[in-house]
Amino acid sequence: MAEEKPRVGVFVCRCYPTIAAVVDTDALADFAADLPGVVHVETTDYACLDEGREQIQRAIGEHGLNRVVVAACSHRTHESLFQRLMRQAGLNPYLLEMANIREHCAWPHVNDPTGATRAAKELVRLAVGRARLAEPVHKQILEPVRRALVIGGGVSGMTAALNIADAGYDVTLVEREPGLGGNLQHVYYVAEGDNPQRLLRDLTNRVMGHRRIGVLTRSEVIAHEGHVGAFRSTIRTAPTPGPSPDFRGGEAVEVEHGVTIIATGGREWRGDVYLLGGDERVLTSLDLEEIITHRPEQIVGLKEVVFIQCVRRPGAVEYCSRICCTNTMKNAIRIKLLNPGCQVIVLYRDIITYGFRERFYTDARERGIIFVRYDEAHMPQVQVDSDGRLEVVAWEPSLRQEIVLHPDLLSLSMPLEPSPGTERLARILDVPLSSEGFFMEAHLKMRPMDMAREGIFLCGMAHYPRFIEECIASAQAAAGRALTILSQPRLYFGGSVSVVDQSKCVGCLTCVRVCPFGIPRIQYSDTGVGGINGAAYIDAAFCTGCGTCSAECPAKAIQLVAYRDEQIMGMPLGSWVTG
Ligand code: SF4
Ligand code: SF4
Repeated sequence: MAEEKPRVGVFVCRCYPTIAAVVDTDALADFAADLPGVVHVETTDYACLDEGREQIQRAIGEHGLNRVVVAACSHRTHESLFQRLMRQAGLNPYLLEMANIREHCAWPHVNDPTGATRAAKELVRLAVGRARLAEPVHKQILEPVRRALVIGGGVSGMTAALNIADAGYDVTLVEREPGLGGNLQHVYYVAEGDNPQRLLRDLTNRVMGHRRIGVLTRSEVIAHEGHVGAFRSTIRTAPTPGPSPDFRGGEAVEVEHGVTIIATGGREWRGDVYLLGGDERVLTSLDLEEIITHRPEQIVGLKEVVFIQCVRRPGAVEYCSRICCTNTMKNAIRIKLLNPGCQVIVLYRDIITYGFRERFYTDARERGIIFVRYDEAHMPQVQVDSDGRLEVVAWEPSLRQEIVLHPDLLSLSMPLEPSPGTERLARILDVPLSSEGFFMEAHLKMRPMDMAREGIFLCGMAHYPRFIEECIASAQAAAGRALTILSQPRLYFGGSVSVVDQSKCVGCLTCVRVCPFGIPRIQYSDTGVGGINGAAYIDAAFCTGCGTCSAECPAKAIQLVAYRDEQIMGMPLGSWVTG
């Protein structure tokens, strides 16, 4: 096909009135007929409808076309449709070019039909030029390994594992701790009143009893290689049981899997601030919940409890941990329920009780809980006074004066941070972290559960601090994304990806540095220009085809398939542009 003389067919879609009411489609067709390599031109009323596609397919056969240009709308919405048509007509789908004369001509130049037609001619001329130089592209085919690796056995990891296993695929669930459950083990009630321990028991029992889920506790991932559909991970299990696993000398097993889900969660930071760790009356939110649940008699005897919101980790990036304000509402309300006479004061910067959780803030105020705002210039101070009492000094903005409190308990809303080992795991998986240190999704809106590396997904607090139901929803979403791969009969790799001509590679590492996904590598077993040891290699299964490396390579050793230099640079601009 590549050696055949190009026989280009151009199909101009009228899409009346969207295109034809602005662009002179007949004049465009006449113009296209005179372009080099074009042997056939037709206009069609609606190229994407059945009749339009049949018309194109018929013309391909009748006129022996081996390249096709469709002048219509956006390739983003319609390219796959016309590529399918190419396959049905016996042509390689990469021999199709689209000229977007709707979004790029008719729509923006709706008040200038002459200009719109001129722009359409230029786009068709460029598309024909690219089509003449197009070569068939053949993708690699792979049957995915029908197993998921889920890293993290908290509520998110267990939910994701169950969703995948219930769909009929095997799961290996890896958890660093001796037991499943993660943070859920320390949550005894939520603001809405439900008991998360029942959820924990239910999830754990279902996971442990599921014939498709293999659970590895006291285990961690120490290597992860391969690509979507064919990953291989090494998992090491701590040799000795105990609450803090020591992985040294542990036994390692290899697992092959088609997808990976990161569900490593987060944890409450317990740093040395506001006397935490130095005075037993200073607690974190989780500590207080433990007392309220297991030793409520301690709460009954209290006269005053102070909460400090938005405790900062010195030197760390500042971010909202999202769930602390609601946790404070639930704990403060519980204290009032157990001990209505107790004075409860919340020192806050901003109360962020998301969505309908605002009602817990209202409820707290109605129960007499006092809220005092502080700002950067007036941070609360905590010390022990000469009588051994806990002393909290805060600025009361309404009174415009300092207030001094002597609480029996001080509860701190500590920031939630990524789980230990997150940075190391990110290096092993070769995926990025956000500035806050959590795993970072590929695109906040378009691919919120995907990592930039194909086949790796994330959910729960590994992504950012979330409530339990949000963790469950995100785990279901991540499992759904994973199932779109596991359920494919076969995966296709390649297409428009970058390819290195190693005989030109000087090993300058430019591509290694500029690739936003860290894909090019120097393979020292290969030979570069002039027989030097080492040349760049790009794995087609990883490359997203962004083209950054091919634009930057100083030796012109990299070409982006279907967007080769001559296809882009070889077509001079139209005379109407330069003239
Ligand atoms: S940028 Fe080009 S020359 Fe440099 S290492 Fe990569 S492929 Fe080789
Ligand atoms: S085309 Fe983009 S994703 Fe592919 S190797 Fe080059 S820079 Fe990386």
